[in-house]
Amino acid sequence: MNDAVGAADRLIAAVTAGIDAALADAPAPVADVYVGWVAAAEAAECPARYRAAGEGGWGFPGWSAPTAAAAVGRAALDHHVHARDGGPAPSPDDVPAPLEVVRGWIRAVAVAGGPGVGGWVGDLRADGDAATLAATAGLATRWLAGFVRVLGWPLPEGLALLGVTRDDGASGAPRWWPAKGSPVTVACGADARIGRVAGSGGHVLVVHRPSSADDGEIHRRATFEAAAGALALRVAPAAVLVTAGDTGERARVVVDEDLLAAGGEMIVEVIRQRVAALTRGHDPADARPSARCRWCDEADHCEPGAAWLAGPGRWRGGLPVLAPGPVGAGPGAGLPAVDPR
Ligand code: SF4
Repeated sequence: MNDAVGAADRLIAAVTAGIDAALADAPAPVADVYVGWVAAAEAAECPARYRAAGEGGWGFPGWSAPTAAAAVGRAALDHHVHARDGGPAPSPDDVPAPLEVVRGWIRAVAVAGGPGVGGWVGDLRADGDAATLAATAGLATRWLAGFVRVLGWPLPEGLALLGVTRDDGASGAPRWWPAKGSPVTVACGADARIGRVAGSGGHVLVVHRPSSADDGEIHRRATFEAAAGALALRVAPAAVLVTAGDTGERARVVVDEDLLAAGGEMIVEVIRQRVAALTRGHDPADARPSARCRWCDEADHCEPGAAWLAGPGRWRGGLPVLAPGPVGAGPGAGLPAVDPR
């Protein structure tokens, strides 16, 4: 992209105008709206579900083992790379042992009451919540192992991990607010960038996922993160590299103004749906069934979702979805039963 700063400026102007217009239509003040990839995907793919999510789904989702996995994995890898415990910096041959790197970070850095995900993990330790701690460490280990597998070791020249809050408070996650005091926070979920963020552009955002997805989701993810990253860093990236730990795939999506505009529209759509939620929650008219229905809290009373689950959603990978079955004697005992939905 020739004019990376100008492209980001144009995106900022367009998204700010879109958000202002959406908020101006609100019949009452809108509280915190956290616009990350999950919110953007839900608002685009099933607006009825996003609107029904309530405060728990509209604001920052908070930490849990699944939501903290990437943040812990990044922080642990950053700690390993920069030898934050005062030890020698790792050599090129010092390929990180993922579980030991995560354990070392938890022991050395996670402090109860501290900033970011380190404070949350520190609280788990202080509370003796071994189950959540073990689940978090396991998922973070998987994230870190996949990241190093796909990106290689030593990490590529010029790679900087993003969303890492260190003791000195530096290097927080890329965020953007349309105005001071705005209820809207746009969060870029890129895990790293390759190359300096300079006026001449050229840096690449890296989005790593432990498991692969279909091409459509990869492109939508790249679209959102390109726009969110351009807003937060005020320079458009040249590309978004979407990687998957289980398959080792690397999908490089080149960023242009059309992609940025599409990502900006995803962001504004979240605000439109949040405003609509003030007067209209779940509405079957714009419920759009998909695999999301399997984990949707609305599934019990959403007719389109229930119909999908009883039809195409009954099949996954060519096989019917299985549910736990009876254990004991008799035909089929000990075997999973077919989900009757
Ligand atoms: S059950 Fe499916 S279609 Fe219905 S709201 Fe949930 S995700 Fe949307």
